[in-house]
Amino acid sequence: MHLYILDTGALLSQWTLKNPHFNFMTTQSVIDEIQNRPSKNRVQNLLSTDRLRIESPDADAIEMTEQKAREVGDYHVLSSEDLELVSLALWQKQLGHDVSVVSSDLAVLNTAAALGLSTLDPKRRMREEITWVLKCPGCRNEEPEGAINLECPVCGTIMRRKPKRKKKIKDSK
Ligand SMILES: [Zn+2]
Repeated sequence: MHLYILDTGALLSQWTLKNPHFNFMTTQSVIDEIQNRPSKNRVQNLLSTDRLRIESPDADAIEMTEQKAREVGDYHVLSSEDLELVSLALWQKQLGHDVSVVSSDLAVLNTAAALGLSTLDPKRRMREEITWVLKCPGCRNEEPEGAINLECPVCGTIMRRKPKRKKKIKDSK
């Protein structure tokens, strides 16, 4: 069975309506973020017809996802909800399911792709897998990754996030 792992943006969009035969999965924290009435009704309908299931990833999958997010430099821009969602996809893949992560969040898509997961962006923005670094606009010092608004350890300028490596990726659909 192919599972489509949905982030908040995907559940807020009309994307699920366009794919009435797909099976969806998400986390409780994503469900909790859905506040507007039409989206809540749509989610409720998907849950009651068993097309959407709520699961939590296991601890190993979370750890692997966090580690990969650090490697590619997305860790500090991912929320804990984002990390949990990507971990859920990884865990379901480990359980033997075909999965696609459905999101328009570039950090979610990038980390998922780096973990070898299929990704599907309803807005089709992501074309490349990116490894991020922090680069100092003052002295051009590079740091592997770190907090947003990190000061350059060499000259004290606020460092900027820049792509270090890019690799073309293919959407799963
Ligand atoms: Zn510097």
